[in-house]
Amino acid sequence: MTEPSGRPARAPKRPRSEGQWALGYHEPLNATERFKRDDDGLRVKERVLDRYAHQGFASIDPSDLRGRFRWYGLYTQRRQGIPGGRTASLSPEELEDEFFMLRVRIPGGSLTTEQLRTIGEVSTQYARDTADITNRHNIQLHWVRIEDVPAIWGRLEAVGLSTTEACGDTPRNMLGCPVAGVAEDEVIDGSAALASLAPYVGDPRFSNLPRKYKTAVSGCAQHCTIHEINDVAFVGVVGPDGEPGFDLWVGGGLSTNPMFGRRVGVFVAADRVADVWVGVTSIFRDYGYRRSRGKARLKFLMADWGPQRFREVLETEYLKEPLPDGVAPQPPTSPYRDHVGIHRQKDGRYYLGLAPRTGRMSGTLLQQVADAAEQHGSGRVATTIEQKLIVLDVPGDRVEALATRLDALGLPSRPSGFRRQVMACSGIEFCKLAIVDTKGRAATVIEELERRLPGWDLPVTININGCPNSCARIQTGDIGLRGQIVTTDEGEPVEGFQITLGGSLTAEVGFGRKVRGLRSTAAELPDYLERVLRRYADQRLPDDSFASWARRVDEAELR
Ligand code: SF4
Repeated sequence: MTEPSGRPARAPKRPRSEGQWALGYHEPLNATERFKRDDDGLRVKERVLDRYAHQGFASIDPSDLRGRFRWYGLYTQRRQGIPGGRTASLSPEELEDEFFMLRVRIPGGSLTTEQLRTIGEVSTQYARDTADITNRHNIQLHWVRIEDVPAIWGRLEAVGLSTTEACGDTPRNMLGCPVAGVAEDEVIDGSAALASLAPYVGDPRFSNLPRKYKTAVSGCAQHCTIHEINDVAFVGVVGPDGEPGFDLWVGGGLSTNPMFGRRVGVFVAADRVADVWVGVTSIFRDYGYRRSRGKARLKFLMADWGPQRFREVLETEYLKEPLPDGVAPQPPTSPYRDHVGIHRQKDGRYYLGLAPRTGRMSGTLLQQVADAAEQHGSGRVATTIEQKLIVLDVPGDRVEALATRLDALGLPSRPSGFRRQVMACSGIEFCKLAIVDTKGRAATVIEELERRLPGWDLPVTININGCPNSCARIQTGDIGLRGQIVTTDEGEPVEGFQITLGGSLTAEVGFGRKVRGLRSTAAELPDYLERVLRRYADQRLPDDSFASWARRVDEAELR
């Protein structure tokens, strides 16, 4: 066949494959897809138990060490003493230490005091007394040796905990309201719906997803699981027939290309949550993009398809039946979506929301909290996704005594606004991708702002990341701080932060505003924060949140 020009006609160009299994593309298109195809990440557990724990760090196959270990919450931690300026120029072998971070999975943040004590004991025995509460309910331990991992798993499993799929291209720890079932103003108790998803953790049908996959089930009026930035989220609503259930959101996520989840437009009854989760997760597995790691999250598929097509595929190909139309959730009832403070439960008892500094605990402290809770009549605690800790079910006549005891342990239930609302990722202390210190810097920021602005009572979140990733959710913080090396006026490279302002997940949902060239050295950060907060307090209109002010004013006011 020829074209009018006489040249042979070219075959029509086939669109480039994104590696979608449902379209017949099963050949791996990158190294991660290759190691996942070669052996399921879940099978690495046998090798840890049978070989690596006995033969030591040097015996670990590289594709297990830097790949499949994540399926059990294991990452090598950063070698101590490597400055942030060298992060990008070193190989993984040079950056990593022979010790591991181990992430303990805590669905919905819910723990008995026995479980909390066990994590604390594991920490003191095997992890140099480290324990950080993360922004997805997990507790991370550091300094773990491969030789000790089987004993740690045994201790955790004995109390019903695990590290399965705490990392990797899997359904990560699932978020739930930590006060589900006892919150006075909840729309629906999401506990049973969340529990119905537990059987899918460690299920080989979902252990090779295109990328990490984040789930949230929330029923509280504060929407404390921040459903807007999860891959799949079920949000408590009163359905068309007056029965409480869930509104389905899909395709949220932050990182370097942040997107908010979209309402699919369906109502999900509580007993259908598992079916719908399986359907959405199967769509991600089958249609998700597997060529580029940077485009593999579900949000990119949702951006291309839109909610209407997503719903059509979900109903016709996976559920084989239509779902009722959904109802949009009410906005959160409070600018604080964190459950910090002392609150009455619907059964007349109380919960105490405590504010450790940026989630930093220790194994010793976890055990002390378990003891204190039990001595004051509670057997239940919960971690939050704001790096906080809650003691539940406290009888009214024990509340003040427990609050005083926890205060003495450094865990205030009536914290300053800064203590409450500063969040920080792991940073250079342990993370191989980090450029700057975060937790230490956050502690300084809290201390300085408490001293400089005593009695501050306006909600302002300050989120601190150690690199361009978004583990501390910088794009949705009122003040987002992204770690980088900056140059001083004298030309010296030092730790610093690029600053965005006015991100929010409350009434004015939106990502932070970038102001050209706005950055600060780490040393000057408290001065900058004091300056911008004072301006906000001086200039705000009666109903202004920090976000609405920061989005309205001239750039000069934000410098
Ligand atoms: Fe590490 Fe960067 Fe995540 Fe912080 S944001 S924990 S530095 S990857």
